Amino acid sequence: MPPSKNGQKDVWTEVKGPMTREEARVESSRCLYCYDAPCVTACPTHIDIPRFIRQIAAQDPLGSGETILEANALGHSCARVCPVEVLCEGACVYHDWQEKPIQIARLQRHATDAVYATGEPPSRPARTTASASPSSAPARPAPRARPICAASASRSRSSRSASCPAG
Ligand code: SF4
Repeated sequence: MPPSKNGQKDVWTEVKGPMTREEARVESSRCLYCYDAPCVTACPTHIDIPRFIRQIAAQDPLGSGETILEANALGHSCARVCPVEVLCEGACVYHDWQEKPIQIARLQRHATDAVYATGEPPSRPARTTASASPSSAPARPAPRARPICAASASRSRSSRSASCPAG
């Protein structure tokens, strides 16, 4: 960890820095956009990971960030603290070929940083279990989605099972 200006350890410096736009483009283009993607199954909040990665590859980091935040309002924080080695990245099909998995967390950070850099709140609200149909709109506000502890979800996760038809 680099020392801070007063010579003490800077405990707030992030271990992995943000991706540059080019790094994000290259990494997102490695994704196979798997059908029935095991990374999504392994994610406690079931973010549509292939979709948000594809949006980054298509140079749409804002849309990508909104895809993430729509599924998980804490996606900006989760990109930094989730134990991805045993969740999404641990389930990536690249492991089957003894290759480095897609850096999902860093891509997620890239996308959600883009949303927060605008200074505006995400334009789409987080998904709830209530129907989005106007005709069935609830008479009172929908309850807030209960935060999910990724670490506890990982304990209950059995193992990687789905395969990637693209591979
Ligand atoms: S399992 Fe890996 S390659 Fe497949 S969609 Fe998820 S991140 Fe992409």
